[in-house]
Amino acid sequence: MDGTEAAARRDQAVRAAVEQGLVGPDAPLAALLDVTGIRASAAALTSAFAAVTDAPVLHAFAVKACPLVPVLRLLAGEGLGAEVASPGELALARAAGIGPERTVLDSPAKTPAELREALALGVAVNADNPQELARLDALVAASATASPLGLRVNPQLGAGSISALSTATATSKFGVGLRDEGAREWVVAAYAARPWLTRLHTHTGSQGVPLTLMAEGVRAAYELAEEVNARVGRRRIDTVDLGGGLPVNFASDETSPTYQEYARLLRTEVPGLFDGSYALVTEFGRSLLAKHGTVLARVEYAKTAGGRPIAVTHAGVQVAARTVYAPASWPLRIAAYDSSGRPKSGPPVLQDVAGPACFAGDLLAQARLLPRLDQGDYAAVLDTGAYGFAHHYAYNSLARPGVYGFTVSRSGTHFAVVRAPQTIEEIVAESGGNATL
Ligand SMILES: *Cc1c(COP(=O)(O)O)cnc(C)c1O
Repeated sequence: MDGTEAAARRDQAVRAAVEQGLVGPDAPLAALLDVTGIRASAAALTSAFAAVTDAPVLHAFAVKACPLVPVLRLLAGEGLGAEVASPGELALARAAGIGPERTVLDSPAKTPAELREALALGVAVNADNPQELARLDALVAASATASPLGLRVNPQLGAGSISALSTATATSKFGVGLRDEGAREWVVAAYAARPWLTRLHTHTGSQGVPLTLMAEGVRAAYELAEEVNARVGRRRIDTVDLGGGLPVNFASDETSPTYQEYARLLRTEVPGLFDGSYALVTEFGRSLLAKHGTVLARVEYAKTAGGRPIAVTHAGVQVAARTVYAPASWPLRIAAYDSSGRPKSGPPVLQDVAGPACFAGDLLAQARLLPRLDQGDYAAVLDTGAYGFAHHYAYNSLARPGVYGFTVSRSGTHFAVVRAPQTIEEIVAESGGNATL
């Protein structure tokens, strides 16, 4: 997918957002979600796996990538479930109407109360470590549950290019490290002793991890499942959860790698996993949403310092914290639009695109070549639909921007409110407005 159509939809949405007053002098920041693009990504995921296996596959969207209920509802309408990792995320999935049989709870720090709730609901749970498995032992003994239960393992294959997002390192905090001394034997014995332990989970992501390493992680899980089943003497493990982690191309509109490439690679590398003897679960997050989100920010001032043009906009650390704090790992594209929302032309000029927060590093782009942004223009921060504006960072008590889903048709561009902008009253209330020390 080269992304030309998505870019055209984005241009139309920016224009319409200006014309319809979603952004303007009094509303200098908004976030836009491309509903058509989200649907297309969900369909691409589903069809990519359907093309390589007849096994049942639950695609559980990793809620943390975009924790907005209308987005979860949209994805559920496309046949997806939810992967949740906190009481809040579980509540969001439930609010979106996603049933327990389509929900998976992972997290490295589940409390007994969280586990009890998940088992009472019948939500699938992947235990992270031996202590958590012991808690499950007690809960399963105390009352019947419909929850499928599994164990997360870490194949300890090494890191990708971003260490903070590499889950399969030797010392990762996630799962049972399979290469640690005695671990493999412990895992086999754990399954042998528990008829209800029927799933195996791994997540070898994420951004910065090459597909080949991800596939190795899946193969390690498959080989372990086969070993467990052979040694237990029956198909104790009936479901393998492959995790998510497909990286996203932040450099252009092209979607690369694709789900189709990954599914085909998995099928080639781990054919036994796709022959129908295991049910499958996936947990993709970033790759379903990132490219479908745009932050649109008005240029409040255009200035120069030390000869460098600087566009001071309303989009900064509050909507793109990772980019501001780790710009080398998380570069984002910026598109320039004029004050009427049309793509800006003109000779590219090296400039900084700054945010509104009061620290010098609040920059979304440094020395970036763009048509020169002037006061009243708009900077669009692209590919921010996952782990971006949905993850507000409340620096300077900057308000959470409104999020609007858009669809483009012949009759025009239609916006639906996904999340209303945070009000000043809400900021005061959430900041302890009624409390006294
Ligand atoms: C974060 C996470 C995911 C999703 O990762 P993406 O890189 O967003 O696809 C899936 N599973 C688990 C267990 C995670 O922690």
